Amino acid sequence: MIRRTLIFLLASMLILLGACGLKNENANNSSAVSEPAKDSSQTSAEVSQVGEHSGELKVHFLDVGQGDSIFIELPDGKCMLIDASEREFACGIISAIDCLGYNKIDYLVATHPHSDHIGGMQRVVENFEIGEIYMPEAISDTKTFISLLETIESKGLSINVAKSGVNIPLGNGAAAKFVAPVSIVDDLNNCSAVLHLGFGNRSFLFMGDAEIPEEDTITDNIDCDVLKVGHHGSKTSSGEAFLNKATPEIAVISCGEGNEYGHPHDVALMRLKYAGVKEFYRTDLSGTVTVATDGEKLTVSEGLTPSGYKWVLNISTKKLHTATCKSAIDMKEENKAYSKRGLDELQALGYTLCGSCDPEE
Ligand SMILES: [Zn+2]
Ligand SMILES: [Zn+2]
Ligand SMILES: [Zn+2]
Repeated sequence: MIRRTLIFLLASMLILLGACGLKNENANNSSAVSEPAKDSSQTSAEVSQVGEHSGELKVHFLDVGQGDSIFIELPDGKCMLIDASEREFACGIISAIDCLGYNKIDYLVATHPHSDHIGGMQRVVENFEIGEIYMPEAISDTKTFISLLETIESKGLSINVAKSGVNIPLGNGAAAKFVAPVSIVDDLNNCSAVLHLGFGNRSFLFMGDAEIPEEDTITDNIDCDVLKVGHHGSKTSSGEAFLNKATPEIAVISCGEGNEYGHPHDVALMRLKYAGVKEFYRTDLSGTVTVATDGEKLTVSEGLTPSGYKWVLNISTKKLHTATCKSAIDMKEENKAYSKRGLDELQALGYTLCGSCDPEE
């Protein structure tokens, strides 16, 4: 019975992916990240749409333990989430997005079906309106992945294929293009959706858990200023040939304090350094790392925490409380999220008032 359900789900996911793949072909010509220039003296200028750009791009590498979750405020007011770490970090991710003032995630990217990237995504999907979803054609039979697909399906959402050559059309002169995976292989890390995001003269490269074999398949221009280092700084990623093409100045590593894998590995840090990285940031040391740019200047800040919230949500029981309610104070951290959304909006998501705290206080 479980087997049949699984086969049905996987089959329906392939249908979803297939159906949405068509959507991508049409979108391909709309906001191309341009081809690599032959003149090597031209650096990052050509990766964005050359010409007009306005506003600010803010990339938050969220503090989510041994996992990845990157929230991006786009210059046209929309936003994107790449990955959602393990399930226990869903509350932190939801709180960060909500308290930054967003109630819809316009673009949701799941780089690959490992739990340290999609573990919290089901709860994220339950707590926000979702626009376009992008995933590689890599599947897993874990409960985490299947529950995520079920939630996506129950919200009537579909999935776009994330693969080399697929563009995400963005406004205000920002451009995003998947440069990998080129092909789907047995190893899930090496199926990671790799996204190149450009704005003005600046660009970012988000590697997921891509390791050297996947890095070596990339043929697109990947010149960047900021690199979200592949696979939490593991020595199996960030190969020399790849780094010589990417030439980042700033490297951000998302990993957990005292993690059992010893990430980041010294040898990977050395390769990054030799390739010209000038600044390193690590979420295990800095908490959330934010890189902001107007298309020219890059500004890095550390330690974002949710602020300005009115409600404390229990995302498990779907009860909402005021910040001073005893139930809110005693709530388990893994169920506790902060929100500044309106009561109506939260009720529409299925939340109900706890009954003992007064929302008018
Ligand atoms: Zn990972
Ligand atoms: Zn992985
Ligand atoms: Zn209460």
